[in-house]
Amino acid sequence: VRATCVPFRGRNGVTIGTITVLSDITALKEFDRIRSDFVSMVCHEVRSPMNSMMMQLKVVLDGLAGELSGRQREILERVSEKMNGLTTMVSELLDLSRLESGLIASEKSAVNMAELFREQIAFHEANGARKEITLTLDVPESLPPALANQRSMEEVVTNLITNAIKYSPEGSTVRLMARIENEYLRFSVRDNGYGIPEEDLKRIFDRFYRVNDENTRAIVGTGLGLAIVKSIVDAHHGSIKVTSTPGSGSTFTVLLPLADI
Ligand code: ADP
Repeated sequence: VRATCVPFRGRNGVTIGTITVLSDITALKEFDRIRSDFVSMVCHEVRSPMNSMMMQLKVVLDGLAGELSGRQREILERVSEKMNGLTTMVSELLDLSRLESGLIASEKSAVNMAELFREQIAFHEANGARKEITLTLDVPESLPPALANQRSMEEVVTNLITNAIKYSPEGSTVRLMARIENEYLRFSVRDNGYGIPEEDLKRIFDRFYRVNDENTRAIVGTGLGLAIVKSIVDAHHGSIKVTSTPGSGSTFTVLLPLADI
């Protein structure tokens, strides 16, 4: 059952009551489950022919099936790029449907987030060589651990860093910082990139939603990364929010419960 409450105000703006609507969402939930199962089934079915196509394409591109003209190579490289995009989308969709059905390993332990940030920064510094971005970390000397699933947290942090890098121009800085706030570990990933228009902010965590503006339109993506991040954070009883100013950057802030130690 879902309850929706709306305050009911008199002429002078004083609340004189509330209207509460209780709705039975069993059918909606069932529909959601069927949708999620369907997506997962399609993805599984699509994955193996796609892998086989990629392998065959690689054989041709490696010149093992005869020499290619420049034009043929150019076309096949574009096909390969699109196939890579599709493969990413399929595996992200699978991740998401696993998360939604609660199937993902939800084993939680005390996770040393400071260590995880350092590893992720080192990984992105080593693999993001194509862009000149500085990554910085600001954490207190002893940061208590979060109660989390290690692999899921790596996915959250890597997605947020990847986006910060992707949606920033050359020469920018991406800052990670963490603090303790009440019972929570609060961390944020801040960039000084293109930013997100106000009207898009509430939709960027939706599946497939991508901002369509001139700076970011050409940047490749699936619109699934933040939906995955949000599902993971929700499954940890945490929260995520974003603030952004177009032209000067965005900050994604995550709250995670602390581990009892
Ligand atoms: P993808 O990056 O694959 O499109 P995401 O779900 O990760 O998908 O992000 C959704 C959209 O939110 C992106 O398409 C982009 O428009 C916007 N976005 C996400 N992170 C940032 C960021 N750090 N700066 C600017 N825009 C961002």
